[in-house]
Amino acid sequence: MKRRKGKPSVEEFVDIVEDADDSVQPASDAPTWRVLIVDDEREVHSATLFALRDLIVAGRPLEFLHAYSSAEAREVVGRTADIAVVLLDVVMESGDAGLQLVRSIRGELGRTDTRIILRTGQPGYAPELEVIRDYDINDYKTKSELTRTRLVTSLTTAIRSYEQICSVQESERGLDRIVRAAPALLSHRDIGSFAGSALRQMAAVLGDSEASGVFCVSRPPEDAETGGYVAAAIGRYENQLGRDVSALADPELIEVLELCRRSADSLHENHGIAMCLGAGQGKALLYVRSDKPLGEFSRRLAEVLSVSIAAGLENVALFRKLNTFAYVDQLCQLPNRARFVSLIDERIRLGARDWTVAVIDIDHFSDINAALGHQTGDQLLQAVARRLRGGFAPEVALARVSGDTFGLLGPDAALEPEHVLAMFAQPIVVDGQSLMIHPFIGLEKLAEAEDSGADIFKNANIALSRAKNEHREHWQYFTRDMQVASRQRLNLLHDLRHAAEAKRGLSLHYQPQIEIVSGRVIGAEALLRWTNDRGENIPPQRFIPVAEYSRLIIDLGEWVLCSACEQLREWDRAGFGGLRMSVNVSPAQFRDPNFVGMARRCILGFGLEPGRIELEVTESMALAEFEMVVETLHKMKRFGVSIAVDDFGSGYSSLGHLHRLPLNRLKIDRSFVSDLKSGSSGATIAEMIVNLGRMLGLAVIAEGVETVQQFDALREMGCQEVQGFYFSPPVPAGEFAALLRKR
Ligand code: C2E
Ligand code: MG
Ligand code: MG
Repeated sequence: MKRRKGKPSVEEFVDIVEDADDSVQPASDAPTWRVLIVDDEREVHSATLFALRDLIVAGRPLEFLHAYSSAEAREVVGRTADIAVVLLDVVMESGDAGLQLVRSIRGELGRTDTRIILRTGQPGYAPELEVIRDYDINDYKTKSELTRTRLVTSLTTAIRSYEQICSVQESERGLDRIVRAAPALLSHRDIGSFAGSALRQMAAVLGDSEASGVFCVSRPPEDAETGGYVAAAIGRYENQLGRDVSALADPELIEVLELCRRSADSLHENHGIAMCLGAGQGKALLYVRSDKPLGEFSRRLAEVLSVSIAAGLENVALFRKLNTFAYVDQLCQLPNRARFVSLIDERIRLGARDWTVAVIDIDHFSDINAALGHQTGDQLLQAVARRLRGGFAPEVALARVSGDTFGLLGPDAALEPEHVLAMFAQPIVVDGQSLMIHPFIGLEKLAEAEDSGADIFKNANIALSRAKNEHREHWQYFTRDMQVASRQRLNLLHDLRHAAEAKRGLSLHYQPQIEIVSGRVIGAEALLRWTNDRGENIPPQRFIPVAEYSRLIIDLGEWVLCSACEQLREWDRAGFGGLRMSVNVSPAQFRDPNFVGMARRCILGFGLEPGRIELEVTESMALAEFEMVVETLHKMKRFGVSIAVDDFGSGYSSLGHLHRLPLNRLKIDRSFVSDLKSGSSGATIAEMIVNLGRMLGLAVIAEGVETVQQFDALREMGCQEVQGFYFSPPVPAGEFAALLRKR
């Protein structure tokens, strides 16, 4: 046993140590430096304790741990964190037990921060220099060298160096966390998950994963200048999630957030940090507090992290904006079609029983747009959106699904079509103009559908076009046979388009028109015929509506008019001069701005006198788009073309309307001709039309004359011209010429 100068002998203070053991442990859990004494001699433990008992390093007392063999020491190090220094005896169980322990502390246990002071009783057991270097040993002393002063100096140096290593490691960890946080913060798309992640990252950077905090953002666009609401919360504030800042349960929290918002800067408290991030509508407030006081370094890290959080916040705002553009109609600020379809899908997921999808089309919106200008058109759409929104409870979703079509998704009872139509009983006033809106509605009940949102939306649109085309009711519910019909129409359109492009299978037939007094053929009506690639003759009643709906009729109509003109010139050349040619014209052709020019070119191109061409316009069409039709007809009339109202009597034109149309002829609808027995309603109406023609100075022709009785009745009424199977069905041009020769 070695004795050291100026120190009590081991025997002297064994007792002291024994009962002083507890007293050297700091009472509270205030921070300490942990020092592990490893020595197989108990006396060395006691002596060390005695020497170091009141030592304070960097404001902290020491806390001692003891091990009496290298195996025990290994175990203590393994289970204890934050050991600042190990005072280690080299020679214990074996000559190099201490050195073995050093290897395992550094290697196996990976404790690179813990400082190690080697002590040995025998100078001969000094470790080689490589060991000191490779295992990062702070000091090597023989026990006899270690006077109290030396021990204190050596330990203080080791603790200081431990403290520095810890702080470097902490900054490394902090910076690493920040570097890693950046991409994580940029990966969020919605504000809730972003804010939650920002709070957790901030808590981690402040070194307290248990910290509490809130992340507040403003609700765009209204309350950019108020405190906003809690988009995410952690720790003790978790129950504040979703609340408005002004309505938080914790007045202190409100005060901190308010102060921070007004200063637009960071606010540091002993235990917390509040930050104002971003600007304008993207402004956010972040507040995190810990039960532990925050170190200076953590605060600086927090400031660095806040830059990443601000960038992430901007990213979320940008994503929200893109989302807005992708899913919100900018004119009416309503969900657009894509969003509407996904709303239907959401509804289906939630259970769609007793819910309905409706699409509402403003009839003739394009005419309003053309007549009053786009600005007024836009205002009208906005006003319609307001009226629809005002007419339904908030649970009904409203969307603008195309130019002049709106979508509604709501409970069956709310979307009764009569209810929707009633909302437009009063005119809408825009730009000082009072406009009457006549919507058409297509609906599908979700309960009956097993389809996706996109399918249901399509079905409602099929029902809508059915409602528009039939003009009977202003609304239609989708049915399965509509789908079949619509598929058939689609196939038909496909075939017809090919036929029109290749001019294959299309031809004109001509039906003679007879002057009653002379019995002469004075003209022909050109009627379009189509034989498809499978050799089927498709009746015009089937393909003309499809061509009209798809606007293919514009091309077809041009072909019809030009072919008819060419035929007329042929007959002229063949010596059947002076015939008139009647050509049917569809509404879609009238809407085409090139129609008048096209007709002029066609007629003059074949060197025909315009008065020999007669355009047939159906009565219902002339009424449906009256203003537009009147204008075009006047242009044609000025050019010199003759104009007839086809199917007259089947529509509901008033005298006022008739008076404004530049007409030459009325064409009595076939239905009245087929009902021509004396005293029948058909006879009465036919007679009225003949008289009307006389009064207005218009010629009258009857179509669909099949019998001699009908012919005689019409002649007696004073009708001038007839057309019908009684004389000839529509026939190809060659047959028509033969017929002319025969008569
Ligand atoms: P529409 O203009 O009223 O043509 C008269 C229709 O009555 C023709 O039917 C004709 O074949 C038929 N018809 C003629 N005489 C008699 C008769 O004595 N008894 C009966 N039961 N029917 C008779 P089609 O050719 O089937 O044409 C049907 C409709 O298709 C036409 O009615 C017209 O609205 C339309 N259409 C035909 N060709 C064209 C065309 O080139 N362009 C346009 N836009 N529509 C056309
Ligand atoms: Mg006709
Ligand atoms: Mg007709």
